[in-house]
Amino acid sequence: MTMTHPGLPGEWITTVIIIMFLLAWRVFLTSPYHREFASGITLSNLPYVGKIAKFSVKTPWLLLSLKIVMVVLFLLIIAAGLFGTPIAERNIATVLTWNIWWTGLVISVFFIGTAWCAVCPWDSLATWLVRRRLWNRVHPNNSLNLKVPRWLRSVWPALLLFIALTWLELGFGITTSPYLTALLSLLMIIMATMSLAIYEGKAFCRYFCPVGRTIGFYSELAPVELRPVDTDVCAKCTTIDCYHGTQTVEPCPTHLVMGRLKQNTYCTSCGNCTRSCPVDNISWRLRSPSREAIQDARPHWDEAWFMISLLALTEFHGYTMLPSFNQQLSKLALFIGDSGQLLWSFSVLLLLSLILPAIAYVLFVGMVRWFSKSKPEYKKLISGFAFITLPLAFSYHIAHNISHLSREAGGLGSLLTNPFGFGTQPLSMMEKHMRYTDTLLSEGVLYTLQAGLMLFGFWISLKVIHYRGQALLPKSGISLTPMVLYALLVTGFHLWLLNQPMTMRM
Ligand code: SF4
Ligand code: SF4
Repeated sequence: MTMTHPGLPGEWITTVIIIMFLLAWRVFLTSPYHREFASGITLSNLPYVGKIAKFSVKTPWLLLSLKIVMVVLFLLIIAAGLFGTPIAERNIATVLTWNIWWTGLVISVFFIGTAWCAVCPWDSLATWLVRRRLWNRVHPNNSLNLKVPRWLRSVWPALLLFIALTWLELGFGITTSPYLTALLSLLMIIMATMSLAIYEGKAFCRYFCPVGRTIGFYSELAPVELRPVDTDVCAKCTTIDCYHGTQTVEPCPTHLVMGRLKQNTYCTSCGNCTRSCPVDNISWRLRSPSREAIQDARPHWDEAWFMISLLALTEFHGYTMLPSFNQQLSKLALFIGDSGQLLWSFSVLLLLSLILPAIAYVLFVGMVRWFSKSKPEYKKLISGFAFITLPLAFSYHIAHNISHLSREAGGLGSLLTNPFGFGTQPLSMMEKHMRYTDTLLSEGVLYTLQAGLMLFGFWISLKVIHYRGQALLPKSGISLTPMVLYALLVTGFHLWLLNQPMTMRM
């Protein structure tokens, strides 16, 4: 029997919609201006906290310890997946990978930006295998150090891998197989290792990793960033060790120069720069979460399509969790003559879920251009307005995931005592019922968070429309209305998805 979570109640939806219209109205009443953001709070300058912040970014031990913990957990996942029980909910490989990590990862970006990348076990294992050292720079670095071919230097490879990962996760059903989960984990290590052994820097993190790029784009909305304490010091710097590295510290793996860094997207929080800067001019900073999406992040064509696709795939994720999804899949299978695991039918739906939102976005941008007097380049508008999709995708992704995490993280205690699930049986109805009722968050808290997230995403998307709209279309006025309508419709769709009962992953 399939168990479902209840959705966000109608009264919450109505309240959110009313507030959304009030917010949209307020944007129209506000006269256009270019906002100057405050520079944020530099943690290393704070009393007490500053000392801890400075120490944590300077010592290699903290990061190394966390990396070792992550690698141990990761190897446990592979071993449990290969040799443990095939019952998904009794094997730590599937529960830790899909119910805890994959679900919690996006939520973590909301608090700590790209910090996951700093302790990522795929990169740690690849680095240890290729460099053959736990830390510190090695000379030579055991890589062919080839330049990444120009045609691969974009986020298109990461997007294709993200689509493939979604297909494996939701279509092929890898989430219900500990064995396949372990094989996928091994595949990720092989790809990361090969990339490091062939290309210079961390090309896998920069161009290929679907998880890293997803975190990277979402972290444009994170309230934290690694930035220079004083940009004037960087402007006068002659060594630029943060970029080149030192005798003992590796260079920036994604070729970023700290003095010019404006966005989190490609920073993996690896800490190389903080350890190599000779004058300790780098610190974690607290900042407005909308700053990059509104102003700092530069629009690029490939990145725009990654963000638009991220929104589409996030929505598709929610759609596949609806109890009616399997019926719709079966109807399509009947129509196209598909049988067996219905992979063709699933692939068609996945493709449609990518194409339809993209068409909708392009049409709304087209309307903006049609209304505007200046008729700017279409491509420029598509890239520039793509930042609207980021807060919409991020807020829905987290709202969807906290529901999963709150209701499906149970049973971890018993898994820690028997991670391989030896001698266990599938969950009984009684156990399923207990997990159903035993939630991490009370329903009131969960609904408040979900409603708040929807408003957060919508509000930031309005700010992006307002500020980027002024930059793209000076004296834009009423011509931005289609993008406001777009944000309203997308958030409305997300509210509808959250309102539906959702299939539990157990
Ligand atoms: S962060 Fe440090 S090493 Fe890098 S440019 Fe600034 S002062 Fe120089
Ligand atoms: S070295 Fe580069 S990737 Fe690493 S934390 Fe510094 S800026 Fe980010």
